[in-house]
Amino acid sequence: MNTQFFAAWIEEIATAVRARRDHLTQLDAAIGDADHGANLDRGFTAAQEALAGASPQTPGALLVLVGSTLIRKVGGASGPLYGTAFREMGKAFGEAAEISPAELSTGLNAALAGVQRLGAAAEGDKTMVDALAPAAEALAQAVRDGLKPEEALEAAAAAAEQGAGATIPLQARKGRASYLGPRSVGHEDPGAASTALLFGALKAAASR
Ligand code: ADP
Ligand code: MG
Repeated sequence: MNTQFFAAWIEEIATAVRARRDHLTQLDAAIGDADHGANLDRGFTAAQEALAGASPQTPGALLVLVGSTLIRKVGGASGPLYGTAFREMGKAFGEAAEISPAELSTGLNAALAGVQRLGAAAEGDKTMVDALAPAAEALAQAVRDGLKPEEALEAAAAAAEQGAGATIPLQARKGRASYLGPRSVGHEDPGAASTALLFGALKAAASR
């Protein structure tokens, strides 16, 4: 996976977020403040513009730029969290021109660690971590099993989807939704849903 692949990923994310913007906003309306779709649409549109302006030369530089742009442009909790995730993944990639599935797995683990360092959410707290952690684990397992890259990304995307769906019966223990206490039960977490979109976009970028 080269710089072009990661640029394609960001394009796929921007398209998916735009298409699902209202859905993400509805999820956030139920247990938050109804801005998650707008936040991410603004952030990934800005990220695409930043990439077009700067043409980063390595996957690492590209992802660091995306992360920094998200931190600057997306308000709320999710901007710094997603921004950190992309920055940490980019930093883990260093100067490499080509990223193997094993390196992608390392990068995802770094992203997850960054999100948890910043937000202190564990799995089961009903946050984006509930999609990100199983996706990172599924990719690591796929690498250990020697799956083809497309199969590995498919496994990660499926795990993220499943993790997002599994937030529905949970009570939120982190973020704005936690203020609702038991009333947060019965709704999918918007950040877990958008994380599943990011992994769907990764799979889509691989099958271009
Ligand atoms: P805000 O809650 O500030 O309005 P967004 O609506 O953009 O920000 O994002 C909300 C999402 O952020 C939640 O659905 C959740 O997945 C994620 N989130 C909030 N707090 C945390 C945290 N401490 N750790 C991980 N993710 C979090
Ligand atoms: Mg919100």
